[in-house]
Amino acid sequence: MGDNDDISPAPLPEPAQDSPPTPQLGSFDSPERTALADLTADFTRREIVPELQGWEDRGEIPRSLHRLAAQLGLLGINYPEEVGGVGGSSIDVTVVTEAILTSGGSGGLFAGLFSHGIAIPHIVDAATRARSTGDLATAELLLDTWVRPVLAGEKVAALGVTEPDGGSDVASLRTRAVQVGKSSDTPDHSDRTRESARRGDSDSGSSSGTSSGDSAIGSGWVINGAKTYITSGARADVVVIAARTGGPGASGVALFAVDTSLPGFEVTRRLNKMGWHCSDTAELSLVDVRVPHSALLTPDAGGGFASLARHFAIERLSLATMAYSTAQRCLDLTVDWTRSRETFGRPLLQRQVVRHNLVEMHRQIEVARTYARSVAARNAHGEGVLLEAILAKNTAVAACDYVVDQAVQLHGGMGYIHGTEVERHYRDSKVLAIGGGATEVMNDLAAKLLGW
Ligand SMILES: Cc1cc2nc3c(=O)[nH]c(=O)nc-3n(C[C@H](O)[C@H](O)[C@H](O)COP(=O)(O)OP(=O)(O)OC[C@H]3O[C@@H](n4cnc5c(N)ncnc54)[C@H](O)[C@@H]3O)c2cc1C
Repeated sequence: MGDNDDISPAPLPEPAQDSPPTPQLGSFDSPERTALADLTADFTRREIVPELQGWEDRGEIPRSLHRLAAQLGLLGINYPEEVGGVGGSSIDVTVVTEAILTSGGSGGLFAGLFSHGIAIPHIVDAATRARSTGDLATAELLLDTWVRPVLAGEKVAALGVTEPDGGSDVASLRTRAVQVGKSSDTPDHSDRTRESARRGDSDSGSSSGTSSGDSAIGSGWVINGAKTYITSGARADVVVIAARTGGPGASGVALFAVDTSLPGFEVTRRLNKMGWHCSDTAELSLVDVRVPHSALLTPDAGGGFASLARHFAIERLSLATMAYSTAQRCLDLTVDWTRSRETFGRPLLQRQVVRHNLVEMHRQIEVARTYARSVAARNAHGEGVLLEAILAKNTAVAACDYVVDQAVQLHGGMGYIHGTEVERHYRDSKVLAIGGGATEVMNDLAAKLLGW
């Protein structure tokens, strides 16, 4: 043993007077959160399950579903009331995600209905920053034009980072934004603009404050590039676009709120996918798209990468929740199936090897859920969880991969038939190891965060 191998316990530090309370996992089961889970499950069974196959066939979910979810307060969870949200925390988001998946929803449904979850936080941040610097007009413009209508289910938001040349290496993106004119020239807070935003005009087009405004006088930004695999990209009213405003690498990336009705913005292709059929996924082209200065969401035309990295943690936590919740749904369906399906004169569930397999599925789900919930609780208490969200995602995705595979196996031929629910989850869940950061890329980042 070397000098550093002293195994005597280190003295425990005195708790800081103002340290946050230790998150209690039990808070997931408070009466309010149980009611939220029940409300969400009821919404899923009534409004989603009967329609889901139709939306899968059509390749998108209707806007009316966004409005219904908003009326129940589901879209605004974890956003403050002053921006159009209903409050709450990442624990409440976790509760809603779990309830949708375990009561018959799907990963694609969740991705399409909640695509604003990866886009809107960047706009809220920009509005908060504008407010803190006294630029109340820009703050209200961003909130009225995009954030409030999206959280009210009137508009759809998407995030456009990935490009045809590559997605994992975000710092190498090529879409470029070039500044024209000066921001002080920007009269994009006109009465007409704000009135249009207040009405929530989804077709307000070039009259929208963050869409044209000063472009008529040649001031703002001009964006050129292409994006691909964009969730809700075919339906979105606003896409938060990551574009290069500076030199190469992470520090040259900025974010813009781009109105999809602007000239030069085009949905070039709807992409057919292995799964997530009800979630529209698009390839986008931006040719000389002119946006006003107020569309720039990150400070000093940089800072886009940092903003993405900060919010990626929440996206990864959400993907972890989707993964273990999908797995839980598949386990529930499989237990039911093995109770009734007989082979060689006995229900499958009476075979020890089947029961052991179900326990293994349960074990992996429990571990993934317990860890991911603890990370959500720590996040809700203000802790940074960059590393933990990665570990939660990779753990839950591995559990989900195992469980969906075994669920299809135990359903036999039925598990391979289109229309059987576990078949859909099997296809849907493959993307969880790719989107929001592929498993290998997550491991690379985890090693970096661990200092290895
Ligand atoms: C259904 C769907 C929805 C999506 N929604 C959105 C969206 O809304 N917005 C958005 O911006 N993007 C979205 N994406 C894109 C997604 O984030 C990217 O697909 C993902 O980041 C991987 O990028 P890529 O596809 O370019 O793969 P690449 O970067 O080309 O990587 C390919 C594979 O190589 C491996 N790999 C990559 N780098 C390394 C490495 N360093 N070491 C070891 N192995 C490595 C991984 O297995 C990876 O899956 C979506 C994708 C899909 C499929």
